Amino acid sequence: MENSVFHFEMEVLGSGFEHAVLNILLNDECVYTKHIEYNEVNKTRYDFKWDGFDSNGEYVSKKFNNGKLHAEFTARLDGVEHVAYTDTYNLSYKQVKWVDVAINKNNKEIDIELWVNLTDGGRSGVYPLHGLLNAFHPADEVTLTDRKKAGGKEPIMGGATKKYKELLDLALKGIERYWSRNSKNGKGIHHNGVAYQVSTTPQNRKTESMNSIPLIYNTNGERKRSGNTGDSYPDSTNLDALALIVPDGIIQNITYNVGYIKQNDRFLWRTEYDATQEFMETAAHEIGHEILQAYSGTRNSWEHKGTSTFLSQEIKPLPDGEKYPAKGEIDLMKYYHSWFDSSGNYIDEDYNRIIAAEEDVKGLIWLTKLRIKKSN
Ligand SMILES: [Zn+2]
Repeated sequence: MENSVFHFEMEVLGSGFEHAVLNILLNDECVYTKHIEYNEVNKTRYDFKWDGFDSNGEYVSKKFNNGKLHAEFTARLDGVEHVAYTDTYNLSYKQVKWVDVAINKNNKEIDIELWVNLTDGGRSGVYPLHGLLNAFHPADEVTLTDRKKAGGKEPIMGGATKKYKELLDLALKGIERYWSRNSKNGKGIHHNGVAYQVSTTPQNRKTESMNSIPLIYNTNGERKRSGNTGDSYPDSTNLDALALIVPDGIIQNITYNVGYIKQNDRFLWRTEYDATQEFMETAAHEIGHEILQAYSGTRNSWEHKGTSTFLSQEIKPLPDGEKYPAKGEIDLMKYYHSWFDSSGNYIDEDYNRIIAAEEDVKGLIWLTKLRIKKSN
């Protein structure tokens, strides 16, 4: 978070005033009023810094986006009122259009609305005609041995167990869960020593949203790796712009891998529960790539904050890489070198400890930064 303020300067000419009022107007609506006594004025200048919070202690970024701001200074002298106006300024989001933030400094709560564009990426490995055409059996690759190992489970064949709408709900839930730092997970963020609770609510829309990313349902085949090269942002590399040429679904996707999934040349059975947990976390991670990219650059995003290589995205070996934390927070956006603790015991993926880091949530809020231009 930056400490940015709107700075108003008034020059008081002639014989001063008895009492004055400064009204700040956003889209011609008064959002803040300041009463000024003459003895507060330093000689003939009056400086006022406004942090953007209205009289109720709230800052709502979307009210400023595409807004017009000006101030009105009314001074009274000998019973006569004199009014002066500042120039009008046009405000708009400077960094991205896909995040709005509302900060309440009285109850120390921050609500983030995140606009994503999660599309229907279709289904892979299911065969709608399977029941009618039994001869047509494309899951042949899942051998009898594989099935025996998995407790004799039949492959998912006739139709997907999750529709696009259900995958969308799960993805949004995952983003909300991992990008919030509030009483639900016992976390917060801190600014000037004050703790704030952050709740992130993702919403799906086609325009003024993040780069589109398809949600894919996958079964009876190779595990599909999710990825998000994001949109293109001005930074030290143009590879993000180049990646936009690759059609959605190849690298850019969030995949729900369920049922018989082939990993390291053998089929394993993934339950709906495991698939769901992983999918929710993956959605939050992949969406996080675009957040990191926008506020800290493509390199930081693709390198998973320094824990993976840049292009091949392999986990960086120690000592440069990071070990899976045995306790405390697990950074949603990092790749960890080792899944074993110091005694060599395997550490299960602990979804309860995974969370977007405080710095990344602050970065997301920072993205609502405004561009201020004097209106003609
Ligand atoms: Zn990643």
